[in-house]
Amino acid sequence: MRAQAKTTVHFDNNSFNAYAPPISPPRVMGMQVEAVLFDLFNTLIIVESGDAFYMPALQKLHKTLTQNNINIPFEDFKNVYFKVRDKLYADAAQRLEEPHFNTRISRTLQEFSIDLQPQHPTIIKATNIFCNEFLKHTHPDPEAKAVLQELRKTFKLGIVSNFAIPQCVHKLLKKHRMNQYFQTVIISAAINKRKPSPIIFQKALQNLDSPPSKTVYVGDTPTTDIQGAHNTGIKAILINRPPLFEDGTQHTQQPQKQHPKPHPDYTIQSLTELPSLLKKT
Ligand SMILES: [Mg+2]
Repeated sequence: MRAQAKTTVHFDNNSFNAYAPPISPPRVMGMQVEAVLFDLFNTLIIVESGDAFYMPALQKLHKTLTQNNINIPFEDFKNVYFKVRDKLYADAAQRLEEPHFNTRISRTLQEFSIDLQPQHPTIIKATNIFCNEFLKHTHPDPEAKAVLQELRKTFKLGIVSNFAIPQCVHKLLKKHRMNQYFQTVIISAAINKRKPSPIIFQKALQNLDSPPSKTVYVGDTPTTDIQGAHNTGIKAILINRPPLFEDGTQHTQQPQKQHPKPHPDYTIQSLTELPSLLKKT
């Protein structure tokens, strides 16, 4: 057995820092990482049973309208609502816009010759009721909080999410006590741009003061999350999840097929893989 060479190290308290090796910055896939951006739905927050929330939420919204003297049979309201919603998304698709949820309620009512602007208090109230029902069908990924708690020690954290009711996302983060982890939360309907547009990602980068080359994005949907991050020059980590609707359940239309499917820079099966992956040197 070979004797180990003995090394004697003398520490001088006053000059210790000058001799200490520099702390390596976190690296992933050959890059320094300063900031981590997340998709929200089906990445950090799980929406239970796909769109199971949708009908009860729409019924409660309709009930609120009825209580405010807007009398339309539910079946008629529902049929027109879906037509209006799909047309709004079709019109906005080319420009990757995200009209606010209030707009589709206003436009639906217009079809019944009821003229209420999107900011009318009755519409705002109805949208809030829809949101409250939706929130009941969500829960955080069981590992999310522990992982975010760990990551926040080293990285700036943010959210970039496609959703038609921005205030509902803020309510949801508060409800699940997750708002504390994020320095920026960008919701598509707040800026009328949706993933995969680079504009929504760039807004988050600006707020975090982090360049694309030092940022990674984590999401579950290749066509919006991976493609969007790559459109912005950000490396993308795909979390493998059972499929959900394109925008986190706001609508049931099928995502447009895009070929070829964008490939992530890395794939994980669970959020718990992130801390060690991001700290790899
Ligand atoms: Mg998602």
